[in-house]
Amino acid sequence: MSYAGPEFEPTPPPSRSRGRTAMVAVATLVPTALVAWLIWTVVGSASDGGGPARSLPETHGSATVSGTEADPTPTPSRSPGPSKSAKDGDKDDTKPGGSQPSSSAPAAKGPLKGKVVVIDPGHNPGNFQHTTEINRQVDIGTNRKECDTTGTSTNAGYTEAQFTLDVSRRLRTLLQQQGATVTLTQNADRPWGPCVDERARIGNTAKADAVVSVHADGSAAGNRGFHVILPALVKGGGADTAPIMAPSRDLGERIAGNFVRATGSAPSNYVGDGTGLDVRSDLGGLNLSKVPKVFIECGNMRDSKDAALLTDGAWRQRAAQGISEGIVSFLRG
Ligand code: ZN
Repeated sequence: MSYAGPEFEPTPPPSRSRGRTAMVAVATLVPTALVAWLIWTVVGSASDGGGPARSLPETHGSATVSGTEADPTPTPSRSPGPSKSAKDGDKDDTKPGGSQPSSSAPAAKGPLKGKVVVIDPGHNPGNFQHTTEINRQVDIGTNRKECDTTGTSTNAGYTEAQFTLDVSRRLRTLLQQQGATVTLTQNADRPWGPCVDERARIGNTAKADAVVSVHADGSAAGNRGFHVILPALVKGGGADTAPIMAPSRDLGERIAGNFVRATGSAPSNYVGDGTGLDVRSDLGGLNLSKVPKVFIECGNMRDSKDAALLTDGAWRQRAAQGISEGIVSFLRG
């Protein structure tokens, strides 16, 4: 996509090549009698720098250096790497992610330098052991709702919380490579939660330019595909989504479009009438957000075909890529 442009900065043709091009162009326009003289003049001056014939191979050296930076395959040293967790993403979830709950990596160079992205991995692998805490009611603006839920799982027991952490870590790596400052709302580094109101607050406090909450659905078998959830107009209590509705829709549409392209998955066949977009007023994480935010349900864990994708590390990498490209597109406008 467009964001890749700067990294694929073509190696500029050496000035000597331009000299040769100009020479040919001029040669076609002048009388034959002058051609020999012109060739001698142009080639002669180019030869001052070493001669055109020898100059061409020299460009390979610099191309190799910039090619390393453009390598799309992330090779993080601290967070679980895609190739590693592709094989055993489940186990990687228990490793320290190398960051605090709301830590932000120093922004590197890149088109998203100065941009803040909060990634919200849905649920928490420890929620199962903390039912009392996560069932506590919290204010979601319009009414009260449980703090958090356990999330769903595939029939074989791969949990949504494991899935959301894995995709979120991959997404973090991709966005950091673009120069963004990235915060995770949780990184399996706390026993449960956070509650949905705190998840929203983390994005607000960070003054995030974009927030994405990563989930997978638990619907009936046969229901397939992904959908992005946008905030409805909600006003009441501590909720007022009016200012974020339009930018959140923009963010969500860009994520949906890039998700289709990156994963090959179709939009949900059971929510959103084939658009891959849904609008909801019952999610505290959206209601309480004051910055552009969407949820994405990447697929249906209870459908065997979707589950085969969701449990495949290579597919999760493509999912993260699609979400990342949607965010990058949104932030670059
Ligand atoms: Zn969920």
